[in-house]
Amino acid sequence: MSKTIIYADHAATTALSPAAYEAMLPWLQDKYGNPSTLYSLARDPRKAVTYSREVIATAINADPSEIFFTSGGTEADNWALKGTMFQHDRGKGMISSAIEHHAILNSCGALERMGYAVNTLPVDQMGIVHAETLRSALTDNILLVSIMLANNEIGTIEPVAELAEIAHQGGALFHTDAVQAIGHIPVDVKAIDVDMLSASAHKFNGPKGIGFLYIRKGVRLVPLLDGGGQEHGMRAGTENVAGIVGLATALKEHVAHMAQEADYLKALSCRLVDQLKAKGLDFRMNGSRDRIPGSLSLSFKGADGEMLLHRLDLMGTAVATGSACDSKDTVLSHVIKAIGVSQEYAHGTIRISLGMDNTTEQVDMIAQQIATILH
Ligand code: PLP
Repeated sequence: MSKTIIYADHAATTALSPAAYEAMLPWLQDKYGNPSTLYSLARDPRKAVTYSREVIATAINADPSEIFFTSGGTEADNWALKGTMFQHDRGKGMISSAIEHHAILNSCGALERMGYAVNTLPVDQMGIVHAETLRSALTDNILLVSIMLANNEIGTIEPVAELAEIAHQGGALFHTDAVQAIGHIPVDVKAIDVDMLSASAHKFNGPKGIGFLYIRKGVRLVPLLDGGGQEHGMRAGTENVAGIVGLATALKEHVAHMAQEADYLKALSCRLVDQLKAKGLDFRMNGSRDRIPGSLSLSFKGADGEMLLHRLDLMGTAVATGSACDSKDTVLSHVIKAIGVSQEYAHGTIRISLGMDNTTEQVDMIAQQIATILH
């Protein structure tokens, strides 16, 4: 008999929703035409891409012409940063934060090696980038500011509307990595007034390998890929029709149920924390109170996060240490370092990210398992 897995790593990835799966099938089977071709087999795929773009645009209050499909969040982040900076001379600069995902941090590193200037802003103990910190870092040389909407390790939601306003006052463009936020908290690109925004389908029960970059009308970027004229000549490569349809279907579903999902996930997280406290465990919670529902970064005093992950795995529960992409590393995650978690707690950090498939029984089981390991 196979062991039942408790999956509590939804910030790493999520299962494809049954609706997204069903919606994708025709585009993988009979309706496989290339949307860029001219015969009738291409007509339906083309319509499906157009419709999906409209659905996605509606979900974030954008215009369909502002949505550009990519292979996921990593490509969208790379494109926003490099596509902006490559239009300008080396020596020009951009600003980011110390807790960005590596898709941003390593793009910044690449830009620095090419001769662009990158200023990485510190965050406070909750992982928040302060308006004053950004204001004082802005100079005439800065062309772009990129601050994430929500952090993938600690769930902290950044004051992006305020930061975007400051960037604009300083004459810079503003990009936000919204990979952890889209589908989970309301996102309105006009209300937060961002110029670019990255998203990835597999974080909200869509398929892997598809995402998009929102580019506000009038903002200029250079394409990163040379090739065909897809995506208005901005992103070459045959469209991933099934992926695009899956993304739109999953996003529409999430947006429709967002408020109920948030309530459910907040209640589940509270229950988990209460149970851990009741079991007498000494731990601290990382991140701000205003965070992605279901996302918990917990640092257990004197524990070893990696050992905890492996012991939980043996018991059938999947959680993360730092971010999923870093979980092979035994070093402290850059986010835990940046928020200044004290050494006695920092090494005992795990990320539990709950989803709608988790139950109260599962949460009780996770608390019991952690207590068994640490007592
Ligand atoms: N940005 C953030 C905040 C993420 O959490 C991730 C994935 O973990 C990415 C970017 C990369 O997205 P993708 O896996 O679609 O390349």
